[in-house]
Amino acid sequence: MNGKLTEFFGKIKKLSVKIWNCLFPKECLGCGKDDTYCCESCVSKMKLSAPNVCFLCNEKCVGQGICGKCVELSVLDAMIVSTNYKNTLAEKLIKHLKYDFVVELVVPLVGLLKQKIEKMEANELFDRAILIPVPLHRRRFLSRGFNQAEIIAKELAAAHYCELKIDIVKMTKSTKKQFGLSREERQKNVAGVFIVVKPELVVGKKIIVIDDVLTTGATLAELARALKKCGATKIIGAAIAHE
Ligand SMILES: [Zn+2]
Ligand SMILES: [Zn+2]
Repeated sequence: MNGKLTEFFGKIKKLSVKIWNCLFPKECLGCGKDDTYCCESCVSKMKLSAPNVCFLCNEKCVGQGICGKCVELSVLDAMIVSTNYKNTLAEKLIKHLKYDFVVELVVPLVGLLKQKIEKMEANELFDRAILIPVPLHRRRFLSRGFNQAEIIAKELAAAHYCELKIDIVKMTKSTKKQFGLSREERQKNVAGVFIVVKPELVVGKKIIVIDDVLTTGATLAELARALKKCGATKIIGAAIAHE
């Protein structure tokens, strides 16, 4: 599909979602309560991910969400993931945000991430940090109409007074969907896909890279690698849920 046509379909999709939302009133995706996509009671029941576990390999670890072995392999210095897909409501919220463009779901989702940051006593990681959402390839961005990681990053940046940067990194080629690929295939799939287009802005910086969902961590690790090559000093990976 050429770019113009993809963009056109992206716009049609956004519009049809808006019309759909007008025709059918909101109800809580957890309990069916009216007038909200996620009520406060359902938000309060959502479980955060277990403490003291490495988010990449699931082994016990102390410190900031990543074990020594995974720090070396991924070059990520810390990891924060608020929950996992066993929390089926969180999965539903993410999918509705991502595929149905229910943007207001970003509030309860980032709320979970904020709770996890508090629990991990990781607020200091955000001091003078830059927040970079995992970019989408232009073609996918045009057909979806938005980048869900960017919407999440914007909400989180506002809460932690971080600087949000959406134009520092570009995804240079459209990757296969990571779903269904093995760990090695995922690594290969994302190898070299990120290009830092404004390297002068990352030198000496602490950077939080953020995505909606974490699977093996291959995408965040690849982004971390590209940023460290350009002189970033510390990279923290963050995601709403572990798949
Ligand atoms: Zn509810
Ligand atoms: Zn690990």
